[in-house]
Amino acid sequence: MKLIAGPCSIESCEQLRQVVQELGASVDYVRGGVWKPRSRPGGFEGHGEEALQWVEAMKQEFPQARFCTEVATPQHVELCLKHGIDALWIGSRTTGNPFSVGELCQALRGCRMPIGVKNPMMPDAGLWLGAIERVQQAGVGEVAAIHRGFSPYRSTPYRNEPLWEIPIELRRLRPDLPLLCDPSHIAGRRDLVSALAQVALDLDMDGLMLEVHPQPTQALTDSAQQLTPAEFFALLATLRPRQEAHPTELTLLRQQIDQVDSQLIALLADRLAISQKIARVKADHNMAVYQPRRWEEVLRQKLLLAQQAGLDPDFIKEIYGKIHAESVRVQLEQ
Ligand code: PEP
Ligand code: MN
Repeated sequence: MKLIAGPCSIESCEQLRQVVQELGASVDYVRGGVWKPRSRPGGFEGHGEEALQWVEAMKQEFPQARFCTEVATPQHVELCLKHGIDALWIGSRTTGNPFSVGELCQALRGCRMPIGVKNPMMPDAGLWLGAIERVQQAGVGEVAAIHRGFSPYRSTPYRNEPLWEIPIELRRLRPDLPLLCDPSHIAGRRDLVSALAQVALDLDMDGLMLEVHPQPTQALTDSAQQLTPAEFFALLATLRPRQEAHPTELTLLRQQIDQVDSQLIALLADRLAISQKIARVKADHNMAVYQPRRWEEVLRQKLLLAQQAGLDPDFIKEIYGKIHAESVRVQLEQ
């Protein structure tokens, strides 16, 4: 599992040194924001190039440690290259803008650094994938997707809604792409981070980006969600990594599911074969293919059966809507 951890923002050389001393040897990359995208003006916006100088100093002191930070403009990329940053990521606000991603790609062209692409703020797997493709086309090093949740419209326990179906969709579209999770920005609160990290592992994600600060309560940005180094190590100790070998019980249950599925498919084929016969009878008697009253009756019966079987009526209604639509389509083709 890939691990990236460190403060939301690099606040001082001493803060960074403390982080590297405590985490440097246990993570693939120490993270730290150098330019911070803030919603409102007037807050701490990062130390910029000065923070990159602190990173350089830490690279001298700790030659094994590797560092990554967020870039949002071509100038950020140039400065990171100048100061020897090891990896970069594109933040959520930038991923959503193809113009900005295009400009970053110009600056990144041909540099062999690993690049992470956080999901855009809006729940759009295509937009996320588009940014990833643009970055890959720039000929950089390994590109990874980072799931950090989506701006919530309604109030939720999370700062950003996880909407796990979106990273699952990305994985379906691009199974070759490493997919990491940033539970800190999803959670927005440190007490929710570890459960989210476990979900990410249960979904077979390839790693985690976590915000860790020597004194989270004093942090200049994202104070509520950052973990202390001790909390970070406690989280790692409680995470249950996914098992490669499945328990026998699961294998047996999956065999049963596969059997039921083949019966379902065979039954659907039988049902459609009957529909075709019905189409011929209707044609012979000059009857319309779609008979609304018959359909209402079919649905009513199915909902009754569903209720007796303890099935959700909305679920059965949706499935039967699809089955009926296919039956009508097949009959019209006759
Ligand atoms: C961050 O990682 O500090 C950050 C600002 O992330 P995001 O782009 O996911 O909001
Ligand atoms: Mn942050």
